[in-house]
Amino acid sequence: MIIQRVVLNSRPGKNGVPVAEDFRLEESTIADVVQTGQVRVRTLYLSVDPYMRCRMNEDTGSDYLQPWQLSEVADGGGVGVVEESKHSKLTKGDFVTSFTWPWQTVAILNGDLVQKLVPQLVNGRLSYFLGAAGITGLTALLGIREKGHVAAGAKQTMVVSGAAGACGSLAGQIGRLEGCSRVVGIAGTDEKCSILVQEMGFDAAINYKKGDVARQLRELCPGGVDVYFDNVGGDISDTVISQMNQNSHIILCGQISQYNKDVPYPPPLPPDIEKIQKERNITRERFLVLNYMDKQEASLLQLCQWIQEGKLKVRETVVEGLANIGAAFQSMMNGGNIGKQIVLVSK
Ligand code: NAP
Repeated sequence: MIIQRVVLNSRPGKNGVPVAEDFRLEESTIADVVQTGQVRVRTLYLSVDPYMRCRMNEDTGSDYLQPWQLSEVADGGGVGVVEESKHSKLTKGDFVTSFTWPWQTVAILNGDLVQKLVPQLVNGRLSYFLGAAGITGLTALLGIREKGHVAAGAKQTMVVSGAAGACGSLAGQIGRLEGCSRVVGIAGTDEKCSILVQEMGFDAAINYKKGDVARQLRELCPGGVDVYFDNVGGDISDTVISQMNQNSHIILCGQISQYNKDVPYPPPLPPDIEKIQKERNITRERFLVLNYMDKQEASLLQLCQWIQEGKLKVRETVVEGLANIGAAFQSMMNGGNIGKQIVLVSK
């Protein structure tokens, strides 16, 4: 059977900025016959995520991420529908997902390696399984629960960087649901800041590309910062950490501003900021959602319940067509998206 797929065309280099042309669409073939234990799936949605930047390097710098190989199909989070099954627990028409979904229109997968989805849990919005009801939502929820030390009634102020992104937009809302009394976001455009406040219930949002972030943060967090959900690292994080309270907590979720640089993860703080962190006893432990998969099932149910109740507002930027996945990735790495970036491959 002839299919279309997207392969890694070139590596941007550890210090380079990835571009759409680093990926290439091509025709390929898959077997006509589905073997016992396998399913043939049609891809519906694919996810593009910041961690994929590391997979574009020959050495990802981490033991849990494999590099993509040149001229070989890329993969990541995906959702699709079973078109033919020779697996005992899956039937034609089932919706399934996997973290290692190949970037191709149709694929033959090992049925043991996909998870069956229940569309009713997300009111039929299947793409949510790649975002708010998937690994992104889990990252926000488990990051806060495992590293945030949020306590209802403690009147904590939370600051979220990368706040209008997939993870950040959920993290701020979850921080509030878990008990923070004040939530302030930091994002890169006025439109994003306005959505955070008008739609997602943030108390305030700062456009870090305009004005003095430190001054605005002091005004918006007069009691200092108790919990910092850090998606970006770099100067923004240094500014936030400078305003954190004694015994406060950083949720070290990601450092997207550093991903096109050849630095270790997590990048060390500048000496003056590290001094503040130590003197104020601010925790900054590495957080990796994959380390908490024993809590996946219960946490996903919590996220789905909040979505159904309308307590968790979800934003997606949907790009149509497998051919555009490289452009979607480039846009995501440049902060162009609001919420989760999804590629619609087929309907
Ligand atoms: P995303 O949707 O692309 O959001 C990232 C946000 O960061 C964007 O909204 C972007 O918009 C902002 N940003 C991008 N470059 C920036 C820069 N140089 N300076 C400041 N802000 C910048 O990505 P995501 O899926 O939410 O992921 C967010 C972070 O979580 C990433 O660092 C990712 O690696 C991490 N993550 C960690 C885990 C874990 O287990 N620890 C799991 C999943 C994701 P604006 O610049 O316009 O604000």
